[in-house]
Amino acid sequence: MPPAHPFDTSYLRDSDNDDKLKEECGIFGVIGVVDASNFVALGLHALQHRGQEAGGIVSHDKVQGFQSARRFGYVRDNFTSKSVMETLPGPIAIGHVRYSTAGSKGQTAIRDVQPFFGEFAMGGAAIAHNGNITNANALRRELIERGSIFQSSSDSECIIHLMARSLQRNIPERMEDALRRVEGAFSVVAMTRTKLIGVRDPLGVRPLVLGKIGDGWALSSETCALDIIGAEFIREIEPGEMVVITEKGVDSQFPFRPQKPRFCIFEHVYFSRPDSILGGRSVYETREAIGRELAKESPVEADLVCPVPDSGTPAAIGYSLESGIPYAMGIIRNQYMGRTFIEPTEQIRNMGVRLKLNVNRALIRGKRVILVDDSVVRGTTSRKIKEMILDAGAKEVHFRIASPPTAWPCFYGVDTPQREKLLAATMSEEEMRDHLQVDSLKFISLDGLYRAVGEAKGRNPKQPQYCDACFSGEYPVVPSDQIEDGFEMKPAAE
Ligand code: SF4
Repeated sequence: MPPAHPFDTSYLRDSDNDDKLKEECGIFGVIGVVDASNFVALGLHALQHRGQEAGGIVSHDKVQGFQSARRFGYVRDNFTSKSVMETLPGPIAIGHVRYSTAGSKGQTAIRDVQPFFGEFAMGGAAIAHNGNITNANALRRELIERGSIFQSSSDSECIIHLMARSLQRNIPERMEDALRRVEGAFSVVAMTRTKLIGVRDPLGVRPLVLGKIGDGWALSSETCALDIIGAEFIREIEPGEMVVITEKGVDSQFPFRPQKPRFCIFEHVYFSRPDSILGGRSVYETREAIGRELAKESPVEADLVCPVPDSGTPAAIGYSLESGIPYAMGIIRNQYMGRTFIEPTEQIRNMGVRLKLNVNRALIRGKRVILVDDSVVRGTTSRKIKEMILDAGAKEVHFRIASPPTAWPCFYGVDTPQREKLLAATMSEEEMRDHLQVDSLKFISLDGLYRAVGEAKGRNPKQPQYCDACFSGEYPVVPSDQIEDGFEMKPAAE
């Protein structure tokens, strides 16, 4: 593990920091440009919100072959020095940032940091995976019994071993073979000596987009990372699509049995950056629409609408515009939390959430305040924020939440606490209001959320248009490993 930074908030992991769902990976790849790894480093930097624990880059150059660097910590601290980037030459490179998904969660070993690399009879290949394989335990057992030797505890390594066992003639075909055995959610960026490959699972749970940069191409989890390298956003990779990109261009195939897409609806609410484009619309606009919908569904008389920064901001703006109640920055986030060089005493550590957020007292005093947040997971942070607002002299505190109650864990590449630790799994909305001791608490309805993301008729209960399992408990892919470990699915009739 990297040395703990004196003001690193990861020590809050089991309390405040754990009070958000965390996207677990960002992936990026480039082909056909000089020093591709520099572009990948920039792309990963723009995707840092999808994973801050570690990152890695693999590149290929005709003279030096495959090269890789994998490090703990931020991209800006690891992949900006000339001495590191000079070790990653060539016109093709891929990279990965991770929080920690399946594998040694919370105590990552460097062997779990992607991209993973495999040497096959027809040459080497590196892969970077975003998502979670829900039958990884079963696959791992089978592969080990048949002689595979695993290097990591990551579910993603199964893909490399399945590729090694395939009898197909080339790497893309081996990858197809391997991914047909995999259940769950996957967006993959991979490379050979001459090809950049992008794949999305048939449901398209996790995002992946294609961009054009000069004569080259880029694949990225989100469009914001295309912007940073000056690439043009071409299109999203379709659910179930595999693109193989060479100097001749982009070859597209659909190797899997087609299924109705079930993109992660939480990407719209929280995970993706607000300046990214999803489904043809900016994430910011969608979040503002969520706030408007929330104001229509759950109005309340108040003096101010304040976001819980930063993720609640666009929804708070939407709520304010719809309700006519003035928007104000009632809570200020300290943007430099991780960069302060002061030894934290026990007293400072106990300040918890106050290290990151501060109330704008002059604004709040004597006011009825609506606080807009993106989600409530354990409720620990919401409670502390409410206390801070009341301490500052607010007359009333009303919480409005831009997602439905999070009552089920995600098994598709997002870190969630166990079900019993989710506030909404054990309490009704009124019990949660009581627990948080606020004047009112309202969540957007599932139908309201669907309307806000562009489904005018709301959610189709027979065939939901998105994955919304963490709200509905209806899992589009049966999480077989988790069921084996004792997880109980919602009964069908419930
Ligand atoms: S369970 Fe929730 S967070 Fe996970 S993929 Fe589905 S909608 Fe997204």
